Amino acid sequence: MEPLIIDGKKISTDIKDELKAKVNKIKEDGTEITLVVIQIGDDPASTVYVRNKKRACEYIGINSRSYELPGDTSEEELLELINKLNNDSSVNGILVQLPVPDYIDPLNVINAISPEKDVDGFSPYSMGALNLGVDGFLSCTPAGIIELLNRNNIQIDGSHCVVVGRSNIVGKPMASLMLNNNATVTVTHSHTKNLKEICKQADILIVGVGKKEFITSEYVKDGAVVIDVGIHRDSNNKLCGDVLFDDVAPHCSAITPVPGGVGPMTIAMLMNNCVKSVELKNK
Ligand code: NAP
Repeated sequence: MEPLIIDGKKISTDIKDELKAKVNKIKEDGTEITLVVIQIGDDPASTVYVRNKKRACEYIGINSRSYELPGDTSEEELLELINKLNNDSSVNGILVQLPVPDYIDPLNVINAISPEKDVDGFSPYSMGALNLGVDGFLSCTPAGIIELLNRNNIQIDGSHCVVVGRSNIVGKPMASLMLNNNATVTVTHSHTKNLKEICKQADILIVGVGKKEFITSEYVKDGAVVIDVGIHRDSNNKLCGDVLFDDVAPHCSAITPVPGGVGPMTIAMLMNNCVKSVELKNK
């Protein structure tokens, strides 16, 4: 079977182009959109993520402001800055690049961001809105996966979706979104028994297990759609995912590659949330 290789790079570019046109329209009456990104310390991976976010802002016409705080910034100082930005009406979105240093509680940081500016969609308010099916900021990676499925005409409604992983940024919001889209959802985690058998029942298998090439063809039903959220480096330092691609792909009807699948969608959906912040503000 020749699977459809889902092209996240192209779809993310399409979304950014659509957003660019939307932002041009929004700007016609003088409205500006501003995203503030805060990075603590100089973790190289975080620096790359922050740079990519700034580039995406530039591409679609959103202003980006960044605060690069020293690695020993206290939680109090960080919360003070967030509070200042919450009260700054020229700021639409606030994002703190995770992970934060060990001595800072990420939950305190996420809680401090005003729900109207929570463009990452991680706050208890945004997660609650998602669970209630109320309009709000959607967690970017799971929202990107819905776009990948919809834009490839993969039917979610009525499908059995198995999500591997239950983290607050991937597994849980993913499960809620699939449920809101009328899938029948099974969520699995490290205490799940018979993981292979459960995964093998999935029409759509979404993997955010954080373990390199963990999912093999033994976990996949013939004709399933497989979405790989994982990002790792293999022994040759090349990017790979949570799914053993070459082994699994021949059994699927569609599959996301790593790189070029889910990864590019996260930033596109962050940009979508920045644009949405203006719409939510006007509501
Ligand atoms: P995480 O916080 O480490 O969560 C991993 C989840 O997998 C946990 O719920 C864990 O269960 C579960 N798990 C671990 N071992 C398992 C096993 N043997 N069987 C079944 N479940 C198991 O990771 P995450 O933040 O969700 O990220 C997952 C992956 O996605 C990582 O590779 C990360 O780099 C990647 N990621 C990519 C993007 C993107 O933009 N593409 C965004 C975010 C994350 P417990 O809850 O029981 O511990």
